[in-house]
Amino acid sequence: MKIATIDVYAVRAPRKEPVRAGNIGTPVLASEFGVIRIEADNGCVGLGEISITSPRIGFSLCHAARTLLAPALIGSDPLALPVALRTIDVKLAGELSAPYLRAAFEMALLDLAGRFYGLPVYQLLGGRAREGVPLAWGIYQKSPEEMAADAQAGIAAGFQALKLKVGRRLADDVAAVGAVAAAVGDVPLRLDANMAWRTVPEASRAMATLAAEARVAWFEQPLGRANLAGMRLLRQQAVAPIMADESLQSLRDAYDVAVAEAADIFNVYVCEAGGMTAAAQIFALAHTLDIPCIIGSQAELGIGTAAAAHLGVAVADLPYPCETFGPLRYARDLVAPGPRIEAGMLYPSDRPGLGVELDMDALREMEVAD
Ligand SMILES: [Mg+2]
Repeated sequence: MKIATIDVYAVRAPRKEPVRAGNIGTPVLASEFGVIRIEADNGCVGLGEISITSPRIGFSLCHAARTLLAPALIGSDPLALPVALRTIDVKLAGELSAPYLRAAFEMALLDLAGRFYGLPVYQLLGGRAREGVPLAWGIYQKSPEEMAADAQAGIAAGFQALKLKVGRRLADDVAAVGAVAAAVGDVPLRLDANMAWRTVPEASRAMATLAAEARVAWFEQPLGRANLAGMRLLRQQAVAPIMADESLQSLRDAYDVAVAEAADIFNVYVCEAGGMTAAAQIFALAHTLDIPCIIGSQAELGIGTAAAAHLGVAVADLPYPCETFGPLRYARDLVAPGPRIEAGMLYPSDRPGLGVELDMDALREMEVAD
């Protein structure tokens, strides 16, 4: 079997509501993605998603996928995954966006392999440890009253934990966290600062203040991504556990964060790790070090979320709800059927491959020139 064609589509997915967060200057109204469709000479097909939520960046990655990676892979064996990944790694040579492209192509190749062998991707990842992936729900930054209402709606819909962005003026954070805590009672809140606090004392003060307002599950990425020494100091203050997100993308990052003793919990993304198998390797490293992980999200569409679902049921340990509810953020998904999200759980399909199919009407509606 040989790879015959690789199609790359740039798409723009309108958001159900604008994204506001401390680290985003202007509200994000739509997110860009790339879709990779690999077809082998025997007609076997695989789908992958370049998951990019920030405006503008997605276009350039589609161009690189089409002009740099596709020509290097066409004619090669789609089932020889390590060879294909090495080709991609050599071509991208450590480029910053490399993990997103690598993840997209790996998704498509594993989808294709699953369809060829007649197995769901979670079987290719080692088999199923659980039925589904428990989910947390994310609350956008808006007025405290609106955030409290969104939090109540999330819990009523079956989500098992709540995540809020913090890192605005401390008074605004206190009002938001206090309102949500009052609305949902005992539910522990995940507070994500997205690197907003600049120094250990500033973070320390904010964390102590916010921890007095709510039951805090953990503080996510309180400091800049390179400030592992600062994260370690915050851990030692033990206000609440510290989660690494921006500090931790690759397996090498996970090693560095662990050696620096900079985090209690890892937030692992398929697209940032460079694919499902790379993310599984981070889970395995963390497992040996007794560091729990969740699967995080760039608010992927259906293909990327299906990949998270297959990974999430295949990893050995998944002690906390994950944040892979991306399709719920968009007016429309690109796939039908897509991954099943129900009562706060994400389930992988039992069909061969990732178990999702492109909705060609949706693709035509959302496709943009790149
Ligand atoms: Mg985060």
